Amino acid sequence: MIMLQIPVSEVISRIKKETNLSEKEINSKIKEKINSLEGLVSEEGAAYIVANELGVSLLDSIKKSQIKVENVSGGMQSVDIVGKVTRVFQPRHWEKGRKKGTVASFIMADKTGTIRIVIWDERVELIGQGKIKEGDIIRVKNGYAKKNLRGEREIHLNMNSQIIINPENVKVEVADIKEREVPESKEVEIKDIEVGDSIKTRGVVVQLFDPYFYQMCPECRKRVDDEGECEEHGKVEPGTSVVFNFVLDDGTATVRCVSFGKTAQILMGLNEELDKLSEENPEELKEKINNFLLGKEIIVEGIVRENQAYERLEVIINRSRVNIDAKELANLLSQK
Ligand SMILES: [Zn+2]
Repeated sequence: MIMLQIPVSEVISRIKKETNLSEKEINSKIKEKINSLEGLVSEEGAAYIVANELGVSLLDSIKKSQIKVENVSGGMQSVDIVGKVTRVFQPRHWEKGRKKGTVASFIMADKTGTIRIVIWDERVELIGQGKIKEGDIIRVKNGYAKKNLRGEREIHLNMNSQIIINPENVKVEVADIKEREVPESKEVEIKDIEVGDSIKTRGVVVQLFDPYFYQMCPECRKRVDDEGECEEHGKVEPGTSVVFNFVLDDGTATVRCVSFGKTAQILMGLNEELDKLSEENPEELKEKINNFLLGKEIIVEGIVRENQAYERLEVIINRSRVNIDAKELANLLSQK
């Protein structure tokens, strides 16, 4: 073993800083280690082993501090960041001239936002074998940040980067998904809506249509064909998504509203996984949704589109509120 000439107290304080373990917990881990190695190792040596097992690098000469998602900018080196996985994109092969390889990615979130983490080649198996999955806490050490072609920030990993899955005692708070930014929308009455408007409106749900489940590409969320192939991304591991339509009435007119995926799930009042739901008893599912939404006063925000096949306007919902509290409702009503 390489002796690092770092005093035990310093090792303990680094572990404490990087894992949130208490000094007592760290000391007991060190004692356990000494016992399990039957006294073959000194306290110092045991402390190094414990640090190593917890992914705390004692060789980091520069003390880097973790940054939050909102502070990541393209070109940053040695990015150390922690987040919770919100989406996983399965590995896929790429070829460009003579070069080829495999790439996979996942989205992780903290309190300040979300960011894509991109991993290459052998490491993609972490995703391929399901070792990184939704809900996992991930620490990325020594990654680098860049902007992709769409101008979005990403963190890439190279051979010098480290990825730690579910580090002990690290908790991550994630921003509420409903709080994410949406385009500025104006409050309008349904009778006044026009194609292309970004609108916000309040009304009562007067009619529901059966939800329709389908298989989608995890990359672009478009529908895949019967063979599980995406037009743009080829063979993918499809996920389940859903379309859900209903009619909203605000007293001035009615409009058909269309929702997809998570947004649809919130509107239907369903927390379970979509895959499970689509296989459940469809009658029971319909009844559940009816009980939850029919006759309810809700607020929707979205874009007005023309459905040319049916020659009617529809609101494609990007955000909704299904539980309006009494105080807010009174406020809204007094504005009318
Ligand atoms: Zn796709």
